[in-house]
Amino acid sequence: MTPEFDPALVHLLDAARAASRQAHCPYSRFHVGAAILAGGRVFTGANVENASYGLTICAERTAAFAAVLAGAVRFEAVAVTCPDAPAGSPTSAMMPCGACRQVLAEFAQADTPVLVDRVGQFTLAELLPLAFRLVREDSAQES
Ligand code: ZN
Repeated sequence: MTPEFDPALVHLLDAARAASRQAHCPYSRFHVGAAILAGGRVFTGANVENASYGLTICAERTAAFAAVLAGAVRFEAVAVTCPDAPAGSPTSAMMPCGACRQVLAEFAQADTPVLVDRVGQFTLAELLPLAFRLVREDSAQES
């Protein structure tokens, strides 16, 4: 079954797929790309691995940090893709990890759409219910 995505956001999946080609993944050989719509602009990221494996960072976070550093701190939509996941991979192999969900929650709202290529479209709250927050949602994104 082909997943359904908001047609107005499908361009984010295209951007994520393009970004995945920039991944530095000599260890896993598992390219991941992400794209974030924020402030009317699209910010992309890819996973960047390290010989010290624990230092590796996911595509979602490189995209998120690129957006934040550009001053775009209100995420309107997110897309992620794992083009190297073999056909028939379990859905769980293509989902954002827990760390990335928490980072996205810092800059997105409960209803922010998250498009997961080959899986489907979710809200952030579906991926991370009861997210940890230290500041009120209405003030979280002011700086
Ligand atoms: Zn992650």
